[in-house]
Amino acid sequence: MKAPAFDYVKPASVDEALAYLKQYGSGAQVLAGGQSLMAVLNLGLAMPEVLVDITGISGLRDIVVHPDSVRIGALVTHATLQASADVAKYLPLLWQSVPHVAHLAIRNVGTLGGSMALADPAAEYPAVALALKAVITLQGPKGQRQVAADDYFRGLYDTARAEDELLVAVTFPKVKNNQVMVFDELTRRRGDYALCGLAAAFDLQGGKISAARLAYLSMGDTPVLARAAAEALGGKAPTEEAIAAAQAALAQDLAPRGDLHGSAKGKLHWAKVLLARSIRQVGKNV
Ligand SMILES: Cc1cc2nc3c(=O)[nH]c(=O)nc-3n(C[C@H](O)[C@H](O)[C@H](O)COP(=O)(O)OP(=O)(O)OC[C@H]3O[C@@H](n4cnc5c(N)ncnc54)[C@H](O)[C@@H]3O)c2cc1C
Repeated sequence: MKAPAFDYVKPASVDEALAYLKQYGSGAQVLAGGQSLMAVLNLGLAMPEVLVDITGISGLRDIVVHPDSVRIGALVTHATLQASADVAKYLPLLWQSVPHVAHLAIRNVGTLGGSMALADPAAEYPAVALALKAVITLQGPKGQRQVAADDYFRGLYDTARAEDELLVAVTFPKVKNNQVMVFDELTRRRGDYALCGLAAAFDLQGGKISAARLAYLSMGDTPVLARAAAEALGGKAPTEEAIAAAQAALAQDLAPRGDLHGSAKGKLHWAKVLLARSIRQVGKNV
């Protein structure tokens, strides 16, 4: 199908972009890498009056390392994340997740901000952001506001971002010496969206797991935090017994819907498999 007719503007600053968002309201659609949006337009699933192309805005492509965190601009591409020594060193969970995002051609153009704004429940970065307690910076007519990842994802493709706001950056806390990060997912083919994925951040103390944040993708309408499974791991060494306890608790956290990719039971099984793999990975690091 062909995309519907629309106007096109290319602002040079965030303020100019915000003025367009205000002027057109729900008729405006932000364009970043276009890797999701163009498909949506071509399928006729969105009919915006105007595309606000933000790729000409400088200052949204920076990766800034702070003492305890790294702030990544919305227009940083997947490929740039993958090539960044700072991301590899300070944000290993995010870095591990990047090669799982689509294919190279898409990673060269698609952006962190686009993925976080779209909030596809099968996407990697939303789960990573949830696992790491990232903070999303939104800018609107009243200035900037910070939204914790825990509060950002509201429902299927629904986030805390208002229609008149741009997502300008995401800030991730740096990994600590006592943490182990594991990203893993199951796909039918490399580059496909995940059937099930897990972004896991483990805190270790004296050879035991003192805390964990287990964020699943493709298990619901949003990335889902497995709180009961994480609690079951608290204070335990990463043994097969701990794995069994966490897997048993996982049924309290996840209620996947069956679809053409798999039954609800099968999906819960995949989630358990990934959980076991991640805990065994921790075992190699204690
Ligand atoms: C074949 C294929 C396979 C893919 N596989 C995966 C995959 O496995 N995992 C995965 O995570 N993704 C996958 N993607 C999507 C890809 O990662 C996109 O790059 C990602 O969704 C972000 O797209 P983008 O930067 O191109 O944003 P766009 O497509 O330009 O925008 C996406 C949405 O976000 C909005 N938006 C974009 N930037 C902002 C902003 N800064 N502020 C406010 N709103 C904004 C747009 O209005 C639009 O609604 C795949 C895409 C394709 C085509």
